[in-house]
This record gives sequence, structure tokens and C-alpha cells, in this order.
Amino acid sequence: MAWRRNKIFKKDYGLTLKAALTSPRRTIDLRSINRQTALRWLYFEGPMSRLELSQRTGLSVATVTNLVTELLKEEIVIEIGQVESEGGRPRTLMTVNPQYGCFVGVDVGETHIQLELFDLALRKQNTVRYLLPAQDNAPQTYVDYIAAGLQELVAAQTTARAMILGVGIGLPGMVERNGGHMVSSPIWKWQNVAFGDLLTAKIDRPIYLDNGAKAMTLAESWFGAGRGYDNLITVLIGTGIGSGIITGGSLYRGPTNSAGEFGHTLVVLDGRACRCGSFGCLETYAGAPGIIATLRELAPGSPLLDANQRANNQLAVLNSIVQAAAAGDSAALKTLRITAHYLGAAIANLVNLFNPEKIVVGGWAGLEIGDFILDDLRAHVNRYALPLSRTAVQIDLCHLGQDAICMGAACLILDEFLSANARFLRHEKA
Ligand SMILES: [Zn+2]
Repeated sequence: MAWRRNKIFKKDYGLTLKAALTSPRRTIDLRSINRQTALRWLYFEGPMSRLELSQRTGLSVATVTNLVTELLKEEIVIEIGQVESEGGRPRTLMTVNPQYGCFVGVDVGETHIQLELFDLALRKQNTVRYLLPAQDNAPQTYVDYIAAGLQELVAAQTTARAMILGVGIGLPGMVERNGGHMVSSPIWKWQNVAFGDLLTAKIDRPIYLDNGAKAMTLAESWFGAGRGYDNLITVLIGTGIGSGIITGGSLYRGPTNSAGEFGHTLVVLDGRACRCGSFGCLETYAGAPGIIATLRELAPGSPLLDANQRANNQLAVLNSIVQAAAAGDSAALKTLRITAHYLGAAIANLVNLFNPEKIVVGGWAGLEIGDFILDDLRAHVNRYALPLSRTAVQIDLCHLGQDAICMGAACLILDEFLSANARFLRHEKA
């Protein structure tokens, strides 16, 4: 069991692609650093030849040749064909072997759990999704769902369980990293729950835990709308609202990894009561139940509220609000305008505080209302943010859609896989 525990919180994930490609993050031997550099370039910028890899990394051709020989032998890298070169001798192209192993990314939401199986190139192979029973917030329930989902994911594939290099999990709570794996979530009334221990007791693969918004930020920064930006903030809107803040190429965590709890910043003095115990928090106005509460205040008898009453399905209500607004329903339009106003004002605070180049809006509720409110949102940010900062920022929707958190959770493992002294063994017996 000990080796598995050690995999949790072992290191600091959360560099942007640019930073990850240029700065080895640990003091280790030169060969390992060179290996990490070559592997990361091949992974993110490949396929490429040995010569091009040498030119892109600044490593000598001899060093690259040695490293590539080692990576080919380990089957982490494969040769995929040849291209003509100017000198006439064809060059062999190499890429990271997508079949080397798999990652599992888990999005634990407040209303659902989604598990996705990815190959090494982070191409989705399979998905399993469960709606969570209301009122059952026991940590063991979540562990059981994750363990069952893992079984189902591999059962439907030819992939052997032993090919799974790790299980990454994004949670809607605060995940401590200093020597522990305690999860606190005001939503579920979890206080310092040893969730990592519960998972390792049931799942025989290395486990990586983090807050879902932070995981999504990593995925958007490496593969999505944030690729190429070193000053980036993602805003995740679901039942609650979270964010991930990248400044100068690194994810900002704070001493307890609870930085970015954007949903609990204040938008109305003494406003609506929040689940966190405070009043007037952003998520009470712009999280899914907050948006629905606004509609209820504006039009208590609106038929759009029926879906929520029937099935407690927030997504269905948001969907009907967006459709009704598009058809000109005044209460639905006003609800979305008010939502954009609160969100825009709150995002303007982020712009003033952090001077980001990019803000990416995602999450299941964010994506549902995103297209409809985006112009309004940008207008409000322009209205409230300082001129110098607002001219530097672009606001866009998440590119990775509803898979962003699963992908982000898988990125936690990928980051370790591509690290200097990491050696992931396939067919490792647990
Ligand atoms: Zn709150």
C-alpha cells in the first residue's frame, strides 16, 4: 500500500505548456532533465525527427540519439515513418506511443460522476457516467462509484486493467496537498475527509487528487483555449463556481491549495444565503441553482421551473431557460442578463487583481449558458475592469467541453508521466 500512497501529492502539478517545455522543475541529474525535455517536446510538438528534436530542445544530436534509443527500447516512443530531407537522406519521424498505457480521468461533480479512459495521447477511449443519488454525500459512496466505474471502463475495452498508469480525480472541494490528501467540501459537509486513503483501500492503481477547477485549468492550458498563455484564469460554473488561476506559467494554489474559490467571493452585501455559511457569494447568483433562483424571483409561476421540480434536474432547467430566451421569453432573457451582469462584475475583479491574458469560461452550466451570455459578459467586464487590464484580456468559452475536468484529471497523471525521474511500469502488479 505504501508505494501507492506515495504517489498522491508527490509533486507540484500545474505548469503551462510553455513553462513545462522550458523549465525542468526538480534538481535532479542532467540525464533525467534531458530525458524530460526530449519527451515533453515529442509529446506536445511531435512527431519529429532526431535532428528536429535536437534543434527544438537545444540538446546535441548525440544526446538526443541516446535518449531516443532508450525511449524506443522502453516502447514509450515509436517510429512512425520517414520524410525526405534537403540533404537527400530520409529522416525517421518519432512520436510518443499512444498504446503505451492508459490514463483514467474522473470528474466528481455535485450531481454526477463521469469517468473517462484515455490512451497515452489523451484520446478518449471510453466514458462512463452516473447520476448521483440526492442526499447521499457519504465519502464511501463516491469511492464505490469510482471503483465500479473503473471496472465498467475496462470491461468494455480490450485494455487490461494493468495498462492503467494512474487514476486522476477532480473534486468540487478543497484538496490539501501538504503531506496529506484530506478533502474538505462545504457542499457535502466534508471536513478533512481522508479521501485518498479510502480510494487506495479500494483501487489498486496510483491515484492523483485535486480540485476539479484546477484540473480543468491544466487541461485548458495544455490542450484547450488556454494553450500558449502563461497568465490564464479558468472559471468553472456548475452547481457551484470554481476557478483556476495561472500566473507566470504556474498554477497558484496558496498554502492550503484552496486558492481560486471564486464562487465564494462577494457580489451582494448581505445577499442570498450561501452553503458556505456566508451571504451574497457569487455562486448564489450565478451557479446553476442561483440562476434558477433568479428566474423564480422574476417569474414564480414560470413553466420553465417545472423540469427542476419534476426531476431535480438543473441542467434541464438551464437548457429550457436558454431556449426560451432565444425565443424571446422575457423572464428567461432577464434571468440570463442578470446572470451575465453578476458574472461580468465578478470576473472584472479577477481581471483587476490578476491581469490575465485569457479568461476561459467552462463547466456544465457555464457551457450551457455560455454562448448566450458571452457578449453581455464581455461588455460587463469592459465596463467594470480597469482600462489597461481589460485591453489585455480575452474572454472565451472552454474548448474541451464537458470532458474538460476528466481530461484535466488525466493531465495530473500525464504531468507525472512526463516528469524527469518518473518511471511508470506497465503490467505493474498491485
Ligand atoms: Zn459562499
